[in-house]
Amino acid sequence: MSVVILSDVHANIQALHAVLDDVAKVAPHAPIWHCGDVVGYGASPNEVVAELQRVGATGVMGNHDLAALGDDIVESFNEGARTAALWTREVLNAQSREWLRALPRVLEMGSATLVHASLRDPIMEYVMDAATAEENLRGLSTPLLFHGHTHIPALWELRRDVAHLTAVGDAPIALHGASLVNAGSVGQPRDRDPRAAWLLWERDEQSAGLGRVTWRRVEYDIPSAQEAIDAAGLPDWLASRLAVGR
Ligand code: ZN
Repeated sequence: MSVVILSDVHANIQALHAVLDDVAKVAPHAPIWHCGDVVGYGASPNEVVAELQRVGATGVMGNHDLAALGDDIVESFNEGARTAALWTREVLNAQSREWLRALPRVLEMGSATLVHASLRDPIMEYVMDAATAEENLRGLSTPLLFHGHTHIPALWELRRDVAHLTAVGDAPIALHGASLVNAGSVGQPRDRDPRAAWLLWERDEQSAGLGRVTWRRVEYDIPSAQEAIDAAGLPDWLASRLAVGR
């Protein structure tokens, strides 16, 4: 059975709609998991929460979700992120707030664990280097960890006890052992590819293997997402960065 993994939607309803259209073509019956940062930066937090609720998405809390709920983690954000978080606090409706507040920080789902950032620090740690990846890989209690936070698709694997970064492209990649699988970002990609990213995990139950993962990239209506950010009075660079994917 396949699983769809979304991360860092960041209140970008235009990107989420395009991703869900692609999901409907590729994996229409697959459960949807998410790795947090549902809101923050983008202009449509309530619409994104409602859409994830509608599709029955299961997932975890991100640092921007926490900030939007009133946590003082917002003090550690840069100015633009803080402005967006404070705006999100104002516009979140009671239903969205309740759904976000119920998100756990860590979620074990059979052979996979879901977190937003890292296993050691599910809210804030960026896994960007081999030393950080290695310590997190060694701590895993499930073979796989799905996460986001960096907004960059990535696959770290433990090979002969050393963390190895596998290049990620369009082709499916078979999973062999302890792995950190970063789904990339639906709503604010930062790998210089502005298309929305999502991850398909095809489990391999017959052979008791870990299956394979495929990163999908989807074009979406970036100008509409930018207009919504401008109309909300959010900082310009939150709109302009969407066009360049960084
Ligand atoms: Zn994020």
